Amino acid sequence: MREITHFIGGGATAGAGTRRSDIFDPNSGTVQAQVTLGVQADLDTAMAKAMAAQPGWAATNPQRRARVMFNFKALVEQNMDELAHLLSSEHGKVIADSRGDVQRGLEVIEFACGIPHLLKGEYTQGAGPGIDVYSMRQPLGVVAGITPFNFPAMIPMWMFGVAIACGNAFILKPSERDPSVPVRLAELMLEAGAPEGVLQVVHGDKEMVDAILDHPEIKAVSFVGSSDIAHYVYRRGVEAGKRVQAMGGAKNHGIVMPDADLDQVVNDLSGAAFGSAGERCMALPVVVPVGEKTAIALREKLLPAIEALRVGVSTDAEAHYGPVVTAAHKAKIESYIQMGVDEGAELVVDGRGFTLQGHEDGFFVGPTLFDRVTPQMRSYQEEIFGPVLQMVRADSFEDAVRLPSEHQYGNGVAIFTRNGHAAREFAARVNVGMVGINVPIPVPVAYHTFGGWKRSAFGDTNQHGMEGVKFFTKVKTVTQRWPDGGANGLGGDAANAFVIPTMG
Ligand code: NAD
Repeated sequence: MREITHFIGGGATAGAGTRRSDIFDPNSGTVQAQVTLGVQADLDTAMAKAMAAQPGWAATNPQRRARVMFNFKALVEQNMDELAHLLSSEHGKVIADSRGDVQRGLEVIEFACGIPHLLKGEYTQGAGPGIDVYSMRQPLGVVAGITPFNFPAMIPMWMFGVAIACGNAFILKPSERDPSVPVRLAELMLEAGAPEGVLQVVHGDKEMVDAILDHPEIKAVSFVGSSDIAHYVYRRGVEAGKRVQAMGGAKNHGIVMPDADLDQVVNDLSGAAFGSAGERCMALPVVVPVGEKTAIALREKLLPAIEALRVGVSTDAEAHYGPVVTAAHKAKIESYIQMGVDEGAELVVDGRGFTLQGHEDGFFVGPTLFDRVTPQMRSYQEEIFGPVLQMVRADSFEDAVRLPSEHQYGNGVAIFTRNGHAAREFAARVNVGMVGINVPIPVPVAYHTFGGWKRSAFGDTNQHGMEGVKFFTKVKTVTQRWPDGGANGLGGDAANAFVIPTMG
């Protein structure tokens, strides 16, 4: 059995942990490898390497650090095909989608290539008599990232791209369900010129996460995953005195106004609801047609589009989406479908019991559509994270604004309309962090910033963009005066030495 081990210092390390977790091939349902689950001693080994490497890396000038990022970008591009196949083989998403996963992460690396500019501080000349004030951004030291299974390339790069460019050493604890791509990225960073110990990967589950959260020398933790765990990570990390940003789950709504271009909506919705088998935190699993006429027309157009969806193995170039990540996740999605039925929603298309010929044990779930879902239903309130689209009919624009605004999650939302005023009002008033206007998956570009509201994020800084730079650096502000020996009366005023200094 192939074993996926930690990447500590400059290479593969077996570690001290004795527990293992299975890595499946979601297309066939078989176990293809095992990942080592790490323990405190493994983290300690990685920490010793990180702490040894970080001061030298921080002292490397930003332009040289940026050159490592440029090299890394080129290496990832050269290895794109291999990375996409590796990613699909453990996650189950189709190859083209895996390329997108890598590409969206690379865009953050491109952003990080601009780190010399991004780290420039502020300067005030003559803030007082002979006094100048300036600020500088300095790295925190050793920082860590804990990432989910659904974007095993993009989300690690969101974090380590910015953190490492800022001069930190980074310890990555990827999802134990698809850990191979993160290890490969660490190998490529080494090849790109990052010194040993600057990017390391430790595997594990709760035991390793707790070790990271409690380690006194880890100064910041960036987390992405489900909300209950995000909240737990946030609380425990903050209690230990760290900076923590913890992104959680989602239930994004797509509002369809009566004047929307329904053909475009159906096309966008199919991809946003069912792409990657719905395993995206920016998927659109809830559609809200405004008015009865819109609901009827939308449903009529949606049905054939859903029936035309091709579910296939991840290497099938024609497939719209592949299997979900594990048998346990498939069972969870199917139990939510049953819950929807029990709660009285109308099951229009049932994806349960879907099998693919020749891949009967693969973790496939067919596309599923519910109509007449209501906000009181638990299957609406909770995140399903599968290829399940729920239609909630709204009577008015006000109802449509209220639904996502009152939902426990507030990651993304989209409105489809031709009415600029309605779109503008919606964007201003909706209580959600990322908004799309005729854009179904409004994941902000790398030089903007990613983050939801409410239970979709704990902490106060977003991922990447300047927010990422702020999260991974601390500001030092220097107030300086160079005494002139008394020639110009700038030597200080003995009579006022005991009064809080003012610049007046
Ligand atoms: P998850 O919460 O199960 O796992 C995330 C990480 O937490 C993994 O590294 C895992 O090993 C670790 N973990 C799991 N159980 C733990 C425990 N009890 N204590 C401590 N750590 C634990 O999430 P997942 O299933 O891998 O990913 C899907 C979830 O991530 C969805 O809820 C999705 O919405 C969310 N997500 C959010 C964003 C965002 O930016 N808001 C992006 C992607 C995914």
